Amino acid sequence: MQLPREVVVGEGVIEQTAEISKRLGFTESTLIITGKKTHNIAGKIVEETLEREGVQAKTYIVESATIKDVEAVEEKIRALKPQVVFGVGGGTKIDIAKLSSARQRVPFISVPTTASHDGIASPLSSVKGLEKPFSIMAQAPVAIIADTNIIAQTHHRFIASGCGDVIAKFTAVRDWKLASMNRNEYYGEYAASLALMSARLVMRNASIIKPENEKGLRVLLEALISCGVAMSIAGSSRPCSGAEHLFSHALDIIKPNNALHGEQCGIGTIIMAYLHGANWKHIKETLKTVGAPTNAYELGLGKDEVVKALFMASSIRPERYTILNKLDLSLEECERIAKITGVV
Ligand SMILES: [Zn+2]
Repeated sequence: MQLPREVVVGEGVIEQTAEISKRLGFTESTLIITGKKTHNIAGKIVEETLEREGVQAKTYIVESATIKDVEAVEEKIRALKPQVVFGVGGGTKIDIAKLSSARQRVPFISVPTTASHDGIASPLSSVKGLEKPFSIMAQAPVAIIADTNIIAQTHHRFIASGCGDVIAKFTAVRDWKLASMNRNEYYGEYAASLALMSARLVMRNASIIKPENEKGLRVLLEALISCGVAMSIAGSSRPCSGAEHLFSHALDIIKPNNALHGEQCGIGTIIMAYLHGANWKHIKETLKTVGAPTNAYELGLGKDEVVKALFMASSIRPERYTILNKLDLSLEECERIAKITGVV
């Protein structure tokens, strides 16, 4: 079980980067992986604070998020031999830093610039160019530095997306339990409770998750980080990823780069909650409250695309047993359910 040793969330905490790095024993050399934009927003500050405190910091800017980028970063790690790799950015830069550092057996520190999904704290990486459309095991960050001043600068859409990814745990945990009952799969009560608690926390605080509300953003960040920890405890994405994630992965195949991961997962959660016989209306209301999309139109999708994604979701990852395997829906049933839940 790998868990972060330092988790710092709050206004201006990025200034503590050097202090945290030194406390963890990374006193000499570091490598910062960031994007062009995120370098200006946060990468530069990380670099400057480290250098100011006498810790060497080299920056490498990645432009895309493919397995080729991971290999390029690995080469940099082999050449520079840093004590630690910082991933500074939204989703993709963190994923690249996480996977390349794991492959090279160097610790990794996560410095997120958005709160759009739980990859900021999880041990998993999602990178394009791999055989599978879902995340693979990499390593947990040894520290997470989440500066709310920086994250609050992003468009509220990203924060709403993060809420969708957390609310998804509501059905992910139900799917996990189902797999344990019907397929005798390992089920970790503690990891499941942690994921579920995060979802409940965001649902309870939905009304304060809005632009320029630091408290709401903190709730979301803490929930996302707890989800990452839940995955580290479980040793897989099981507590955080069920049929609603398979639905999102199917949408990624049907219409790539259309919507944010958490937005798609949120809509998937409405549908899967209905299938589980849970309170799907409450999920829908909560998503609306935080400003996340709740139907195909708001997601920029047509009716057929949503129905197709629901129909093909269970085939994305056959070993992951969910409510969709249990119900084995026909295309007509998928359409009916999408209509009942108001998704189409
Ligand atoms: Zn997710």
